[in-house]
Amino acid sequence: MEGIVIKSIDYKEKSKLVYLYTPLGIRSVKALDVSKSKLGFITTLNQVEFEATTGKLSTVTEYTLLKSFYSFYQNLDKVGVLSPILDVILHLEEDANHTRIYPFFLRTLEALEQTNSPYSILSIFLIKMLSVFGIKPELKKCIHCSNTRIVNFSFKEGGALCANCSAVNEKNYAIYKAFYELYYTQDFNIGVLPLSSKEVVEAIYSYYSIHAHFKLKGYKL
Ligand SMILES: [Zn+2]
Repeated sequence: MEGIVIKSIDYKEKSKLVYLYTPLGIRSVKALDVSKSKLGFITTLNQVEFEATTGKLSTVTEYTLLKSFYSFYQNLDKVGVLSPILDVILHLEEDANHTRIYPFFLRTLEALEQTNSPYSILSIFLIKMLSVFGIKPELKKCIHCSNTRIVNFSFKEGGALCANCSAVNEKNYAIYKAFYELYYTQDFNIGVLPLSSKEVVEAIYSYYSIHAHFKLKGYKL
């Protein structure tokens, strides 16, 4: 099976319990007698192909390193945005659509590897993951009357508001435009947003704090 190491913790003497995100969800696998030969299996963000014993708490028997994202650790901004990204993966429901989320997670890491703007990648990841948690805001039409002449955005109600239902709010309208651009981008390329990357990330954090069932881990900006 293929997976990406998202966390590993000490487990008895010389052993680790490794959490991997796989196309079937999160799996925890024991790595016994962690010596140099298993370093590739316990390093966070390594993409591996592995075999493990069956049973309640399985043990890795062999693995191949497919890709390492070790270069992230040379860039503090990239390390800073990894913590909330991994935190979101750890909060996925067991029955989430992992076969779709796994390749998206991998593409996010690859985009983060190439980007000069880690906060844009974090923003795209967080906005797109809202639909996985069932809390995606309505961005195409007014949440009250389906009108498409949007002038405002309600964090609390989770969506766009039109001129018939709300007064114009320039700040929230800019947030709405940014959310729309981030949510519908296909390839991690986004145009110029009407807000700074810091303002965008802060708006997304506010949205999570109102609607998500967990508190998103902090980032460094
Ligand atoms: Zn309306």
